[in-house]
Amino acid sequence: MTLSVQKSDNPLLNLIFEPAFEALGGEYADPVDAAIFPQHILRFRNDDLLPTLGLDPNLVSDSHFLQAFGKFEGRLPLLAMRYHGYQFGYYNPDLGDGRGFLYGQVRGIDGNLYDLGTKGSGTTPYSRGGDGRLTLKGGVREVLAAEMLQVMGVRTSRCLSLVETGEGLWRGDEPSPTRSAVMVRMQRSHIRFGTFERLHSLERPDLIRTLLDHVIDTYYPHLSREPDRDARFYAELVLRVAELAAQWMAAGFCHAVLNTDNMAITAESFDYGPYAFIERFDPKFTAAYFDHFGRYAYANQPGICRLNLELLQVPLKLVMSATDLEAGLAAFEAHYVATYGQRMLRRLGFEALPAELENALIGQTLQFLQATKIGYHEFFRTLREQFSPSWREDAALIFAESVSEQADALESSFKLWRQTYHRALNQVPEAELLQVAARLRQHNPMVVIVRPEIEAVWGAIAEFDNWEPFYDLLQRIRSSVEVA
Ligand code: AMP
Ligand code: MG
Repeated sequence: MTLSVQKSDNPLLNLIFEPAFEALGGEYADPVDAAIFPQHILRFRNDDLLPTLGLDPNLVSDSHFLQAFGKFEGRLPLLAMRYHGYQFGYYNPDLGDGRGFLYGQVRGIDGNLYDLGTKGSGTTPYSRGGDGRLTLKGGVREVLAAEMLQVMGVRTSRCLSLVETGEGLWRGDEPSPTRSAVMVRMQRSHIRFGTFERLHSLERPDLIRTLLDHVIDTYYPHLSREPDRDARFYAELVLRVAELAAQWMAAGFCHAVLNTDNMAITAESFDYGPYAFIERFDPKFTAAYFDHFGRYAYANQPGICRLNLELLQVPLKLVMSATDLEAGLAAFEAHYVATYGQRMLRRLGFEALPAELENALIGQTLQFLQATKIGYHEFFRTLREQFSPSWREDAALIFAESVSEQADALESSFKLWRQTYHRALNQVPEAELLQVAARLRQHNPMVVIVRPEIEAVWGAIAEFDNWEPFYDLLQRIRSSVEVA
């Protein structure tokens, strides 16, 4: 396999690709071709990401995007990555990139190596019965999820482009035929827990060793020279995954398909299929209609992430110490709890509170949210909008705009919450109350893309080919929190 250098006036084709994954050799991926599509219409380009790739958005035209990320001209090899994975608890060896490939890897101006990976770019040896395609609605949903999560401070992949491709697709879960698209996703790595699981199943510790060294040197370079680098890598991965789970939970996000092939070795959140942002706080909320037993329900996410880390120990044990792996995993829960607490505290306007008060406030917030009909995001948005420093003086002023003051009629869970919130505000010096208000604006978005919001955007596209609501929603997402 060789890197093809294309002379072109297209800045996207002139990116300096760094074929780190390809350099591992032919055991980890297969060269594939992109599908030839009947049509190419650029529906989304993420200009926010271009500077990271060293590109000036003004010098990259829409036709440059179409040439590179719709027609896939001038770029070889395109690599379908090989992996297996546990899907809904069952091991599946018939996986791998079935509708995507690694387009290329680029060193960002931040020094990090980034994957440009596709979704919906055609069939591969791993497509099995599938058509290798992505529905336009699926693409629109993934663009929105990534932008929303980014704004909410979740470590997420991003979509670089979405091109409509002019085919009619048949899907059981969308009115069909439905429109087709191809997406390019930018994230640190598409190496998954399942990439290691496959090598275990093939009984190839040598390939696990090579892949692990690659992962550490490329994505955990600060550990490269450590004598106990394997142990420290796994320990750091555990912490990163615990943080990611906490970020999802505080954001009210349900990924929906936390199979081990959807767990990145860099602990980024990616692959947004039937995800949902919860409407009301409901621990049992399940986003995928095919998740019949609620395995990946909202509140199960931290436990599932921990389980997936435990499953990853099986391949890693072939090349490193089992004791180190167990010691690494032992830190998961405490780190999850600490990160979740910190995230929730910020959504409530605080940076730190005494432990007893922090626990009481977060616990009572969740109890109140579960007892009432108010939406999860609506609650935090209303807190942001109505908060007033005067609340510190008198608990009765808290949410006085929203609740009628017939105290007996108020929910007891609200009254308890209000007392505790009042107590928390009184931990903050009066001079710092404006910082509470600022935190509320930083951590509680004005817009959250719950399903009705997304369906409305899709409805306009599907019925009238009207993309304005989509672009408008993207704008509103991006301006929905105040940047610190
Ligand atoms: P996902 O649920 O999107 O993570 O996909 C699970 C597996 O199914 C991956 O190996 C995908 O590449 C494959 N897959 C999903 N949809 C299709 C499709 N339309 N055609 C071919 N393969 C697919
Ligand atoms: Mg996937």
